[in-house]
Amino acid sequence: MANPKAPRVEMPLQNEHERIKNYSEVAIGYTAEMARVEADRCIQCKNPTCEQGCPARVPIKDFIALISQGDFVAAARKIKEQNSLPAVCGRVCPQEEQCEKTCVLIKKWQPVAIGRLERFVADYEREMVGVCPSPVPAPNGQKVAVVGAGPAGITVAGDLVKLGYKVTVFEALHVPGGVLMYGIPEFRLPKAVVQAEIDCLRAMGVEIVCNAIVGATVTVDELFEEGYDAVFLGTGAGLPKFMGIPGEGLNGVYSANEFLTRVNLMKAYQFPEFDTPIRAGQRVAVIGGGNTAMDGLRCARRLPGVKEVHSVYRRSRDEMPARKEEIEHAVEEGIIWHTLCNPLRIIDDGTGWVKGLECIEMELGEPDESGRRRPVEKKGSNFIIECDSVIMAIGQGPNPLIVRTTPGLETNRWNCVVASPDTGVTSREAVYAAGDLITGGTTVIQAIGQGKVAAAGIDEYLRKKRGVA
Ligand code: FAD
Ligand code: SF4
Repeated sequence: MANPKAPRVEMPLQNEHERIKNYSEVAIGYTAEMARVEADRCIQCKNPTCEQGCPARVPIKDFIALISQGDFVAAARKIKEQNSLPAVCGRVCPQEEQCEKTCVLIKKWQPVAIGRLERFVADYEREMVGVCPSPVPAPNGQKVAVVGAGPAGITVAGDLVKLGYKVTVFEALHVPGGVLMYGIPEFRLPKAVVQAEIDCLRAMGVEIVCNAIVGATVTVDELFEEGYDAVFLGTGAGLPKFMGIPGEGLNGVYSANEFLTRVNLMKAYQFPEFDTPIRAGQRVAVIGGGNTAMDGLRCARRLPGVKEVHSVYRRSRDEMPARKEEIEHAVEEGIIWHTLCNPLRIIDDGTGWVKGLECIEMELGEPDESGRRRPVEKKGSNFIIECDSVIMAIGQGPNPLIVRTTPGLETNRWNCVVASPDTGVTSREAVYAAGDLITGGTTVIQAIGQGKVAAAGIDEYLRKKRGVA
């Protein structure tokens, strides 16, 4: 019997005083009992509006029903019919803006904790029976090259290998996974969870070639010459943006991309046990208000030797684009907030290293084209944040390498590759694209949803090519 009025089952968390001393996962996860109690809050709507809020159209109602029946493995497999990365999405998706926002219960009570349930069943399956590769049909004789092993590339590779294509993934870094591996920290998304998904792809026969930079090691046109029938581009948006203020070239200034890669991928927090060092000093300032900025703040908070971590954001905390949960966790972890505050210059200590950040206070003026009130400077309100390092987390764009080396590939004014929303095809025949490369930085589930569209587009194109209806 559904019990929608019952309070949402809270996620057990690592205590904030303990967790700032380690990199282990903050959210501990539901028990089986907690999952069943939460699943029983779902009223199994005739018209499950929650599913309209999911960019990957996961069968939410059905997987929750399976949890209520106690069949957790079947629930995980039900999700995988639409989304191959449930353990990832259950952890990092902004559910409060998607499926949970459109859950009917929100009108009167709290929405069903769909993300927490998704995470529970995916973890249950991985821990109890292992992530099982799906059955793969006999090869159909056609080959597809997937460029980039982030969520978009992983989705396309998984969908196409299940249709009988021979798929090779080319990844620039030494490990596959994209932002899931190098950007999002271990305490939000354990790398073992991502690795299990990669292992599953390999078990289905996908070949993954690492340290292969398409555009340098090999070009898109050379991939066609090597016999690939289609090329999928999922190279993301890894090119950091800077503000263009004085002092950005000082030692101690990092792009969020470099900082997070050093910490998460290269495990700089365990230097010298791991080779890559990071010199953050005792006081760190992070500029920006998105998920990347929250990850920068929270990683810095956990670094050995760091005593103060400052957040600098030019609007108010309510307007930060980061997930609410990440902001709340950062607050609990003791970040020092400077909202409505804009950086003007980074100050040199006289030896080429950072010693501070000069800022000016802001107030909210008229709404801009995004509808948000535009921050304007308060004259004479300059002040200095004393710090030893500055992390720039103000956004990222697509790397231009592939576009420069692929004639005829159309881009828009944000340097994103233009791709059809219906098929993922670009301005070049047989070249498809999805994910941050076409949107300039959104979410994991968007990259997965668009990847599914591109995989279907590639399949339709290649079926025609081999004369199959
Ligand atoms: P990526 O994940 O960027 O993967 C692209 C891959 O292509 C990378 O592995 C890269 O090395 C490779 N590559 C690039 N160029 C080449 C080349 N020339 N040849 C071969 N390989 C190449 N989204 C959420 O939903 N929730 C979150 O909590 C969240 N937090 C985030 C935190 C951070 C720090 C960042 C940076 C992003 C976050 N996002 C979050 C956004 C999300 O991670 C991205 O939208 C998503 O990863 C995009 O997937 P993708 O496959 O398009 O690109
Ligand atoms: Fe269950 Fe909410 Fe979806 Fe209805 S809208 S099926 S209550 S999760």
